Amino acid sequence: MTRTHPSALSRRAFCLCCVASSGFAATSGLTPRQAFAEARGLVSLIKDSAATSPIVVHKLRHNVSVLEGSGGNIAVLTGPDGKVMVDAGIGVSRQQLMKALANLGPEPITTLINTHWHFDHTDGNTWLNSVGAKIIAQDNTRKYLSEVQRVEDWDYNFLPPAADGIPSQTFADALDLKLNGISLRLKLYAPAHTDSDISVNFAEANIVHVGDTFWNGVYPFIDYSTGGSIDGTIAACDVNLAAATADTVIIAGHGQPVSNKSELKEFRDMLVGVRKNVATLKRQGRTCDEIVAAKPTAAYDAKFGAFVIDPGFFTRLVYEGV
Ligand SMILES: [Zn+2]
Repeated sequence: MTRTHPSALSRRAFCLCCVASSGFAATSGLTPRQAFAEARGLVSLIKDSAATSPIVVHKLRHNVSVLEGSGGNIAVLTGPDGKVMVDAGIGVSRQQLMKALANLGPEPITTLINTHWHFDHTDGNTWLNSVGAKIIAQDNTRKYLSEVQRVEDWDYNFLPPAADGIPSQTFADALDLKLNGISLRLKLYAPAHTDSDISVNFAEANIVHVGDTFWNGVYPFIDYSTGGSIDGTIAACDVNLAAATADTVIIAGHGQPVSNKSELKEFRDMLVGVRKNVATLKRQGRTCDEIVAAKPTAAYDAKFGAFVIDPGFFTRLVYEGV
């Protein structure tokens, strides 16, 4: 376990401090410490909700299913090589997930792939490893999960998982696997939502899990502290669109999990539209607060504004990158 210099981490720890410093603090006039309490409350809220929410199972094709209800959307491929999971969800969902997984078939869970390092995709790593899953991820996911995320401003330590929750097999750019008769391709994006994002393609099924490069029907979080940006997120959408056909099932990281090229295109066009509006106002010399007040997301709020990343917070995330 290593400790990075606090100043390098002052904005890290997933959305904790971003929510606190740029979202709640600015919109509700809280002091930083109060705002942090709000942010910590949000994480508790996500965990509490995962603990009680039922897992909804969406059966797709070629023995691929999606489990919805524990943090990020989870893909599962079943077959004689054992269950292959893409993302681990939140640890407190263990009992609910076990039930849903058992209903998909009797085989053990042998493989877990993390799409990126955020806790709502990796918090379940430790229990999944304890039941036999080998964890595979991109190099940066392993790196971030191996560090204490000390956030000095908020006097907060975001602890890494136990050692057995850290990916044991990693890769730099791409990894090809053949499991349960399906050709799996794990591929790193250029920095997008973070600099650890990968897609997981199930070739014969024409299904792809694109992780948090796509939030279906909701504004996305963008993690600038670990390499994410609005432009990188748009570029990842373009990569996803270029690879998809009309028949491709696209699994989104958040929002309605079972999606397609046309919904992804709507998401991409929203990102481009908001980026343009925010950049125009910023070029005119407006402050971040003034730009939030000008509501540059207004045309999209009815469709995308109903999730945890609200219009004001999303505007701030875009502002940071233009
Ligand atoms: Zn994420």
